[in-house]
Amino acid sequence: MYDSAKRSLREFEPIRPGQLWTYNCGPTVYDYQHIGNLYSYLAADVVRRTFEYFGFSTKHVMNITDAGHLVDDSNADARGEDKIALSARRENVDPLVIAERYTQQFFEDRKKLNILEPHIVPKATEHIPAMIALIERLIAKGHAYVAADGVYFDTSTFPGYGTRLNPEPPDTRQAGARVEVNPNKRNTFDFALWRKAKPEDLQQWDSPWGRGNPGWHIECSAMSMKYLGETFDLHSGGEDHLFPHHECEIAQSEAATGKPFAHYWMHTHFLKLDSAKMSKSTGGFMRLSDIEAKGFDPLAFRLLSLGTSYRKGLDFTWESLEAAQNRLNKWRGVIGDAYQATGGRATAPRDEDEIRVAFAAAIADDFNTAAALAQAEAAIGHAATGDDETKRRALGLLFDMDRVLGLSIKESARKAAALPEEAKRLLAEREDARKNQDFKRSDELRDDLWKRFGIRVKDTKDGQRWERDGRKGA
Ligand SMILES: [Zn+2]
Repeated sequence: MYDSAKRSLREFEPIRPGQLWTYNCGPTVYDYQHIGNLYSYLAADVVRRTFEYFGFSTKHVMNITDAGHLVDDSNADARGEDKIALSARRENVDPLVIAERYTQQFFEDRKKLNILEPHIVPKATEHIPAMIALIERLIAKGHAYVAADGVYFDTSTFPGYGTRLNPEPPDTRQAGARVEVNPNKRNTFDFALWRKAKPEDLQQWDSPWGRGNPGWHIECSAMSMKYLGETFDLHSGGEDHLFPHHECEIAQSEAATGKPFAHYWMHTHFLKLDSAKMSKSTGGFMRLSDIEAKGFDPLAFRLLSLGTSYRKGLDFTWESLEAAQNRLNKWRGVIGDAYQATGGRATAPRDEDEIRVAFAAAIADDFNTAAALAQAEAAIGHAATGDDETKRRALGLLFDMDRVLGLSIKESARKAAALPEEAKRLLAEREDARKNQDFKRSDELRDDLWKRFGIRVKDTKDGQRWERDGRKGA
């Protein structure tokens, strides 16, 4: 995998054999997530699914920022207001009402996209003591100082601050950018760990430095280390987190523990909207519901995202989404037909199967989902044109690949392959035969249903029941 910290491809070596412990920066829940955010979580989902495909057990933590995300974290006294507080004031409700609403919406969107739920989803507001403890540790070690408006991390005490993930020092990167002068800070790039509350702050907590609220960066360090330990395998996020967020996380975590923070870093590149062609109503900010409103299946967006590398980003256009939807529809049709033709009996793939080998090689090569889709396309070809044995093998391969692709291939196959009319007719005929005590005929029909349609029939005291690949009926 490509490691953003080493800026090169590295073979992944876990800290614990066969395990991936990973932290993915979660959303600040003050509004709907746009499809660009969701694209980034899709990439993290592919990473986790890939590791699980190769037999790893995973521990996946993703935070919810429901407090303390100022527009400008470089200055505790900044005039920019907390994003959540802005929404809460606009709607005249408690900040946690805002946070809860958009957290739920976020998880609904994830579910529609088949993004697996993280194992642990810590909320910032429920981890204030862990953040305070980490800040105290930094002060005790001389890496942080208390100022009039809050507590700051002293970047001069962490050599190479800002350059662990970014090739150039912050000064060159931010040249020309407006950096507010704050006389309370010792160095330009010092960042707030804790902000003293102003009376009007909606969210504030007690601390050794008076009432206040935490900086955004300290949240992620405190919560990742609480659940994954001081050193863990993989930290991921969007390319917008490269600076300052992740550089701050590294500085404060490693300064506090004296140990490496994350062994690997991964950053997803942006989704770019073809803004000239987007409708004005979305204002370049598009949600999953905007896609659904146009009649698209959320999984078409997932398929579209898989067609490109997370390191290149995605150029989103309606035309490309349309093409993905057509591709998904075609796949579903082929899979449904093959499922019906084979009575829903897929053959488990063999390790040495060519398509399976090529698929595994693709996803093991820095999660190359575009190449992986080419293998799925090859299996679709076999499912469409092969004989029954070939179809069964192709289905087995597709179900296996779907553990990573997450396109609900098995579910759509079952849906598409409802009981054929002929099978329904035979079931009815058998019911009649039993009523007429014609057991010879009823046994023939039972064998027929199994051989031709993969349907198992059982007789119960309430009459006959059938079962087919997990689906049941009477
Ligand atoms: Zn974070």
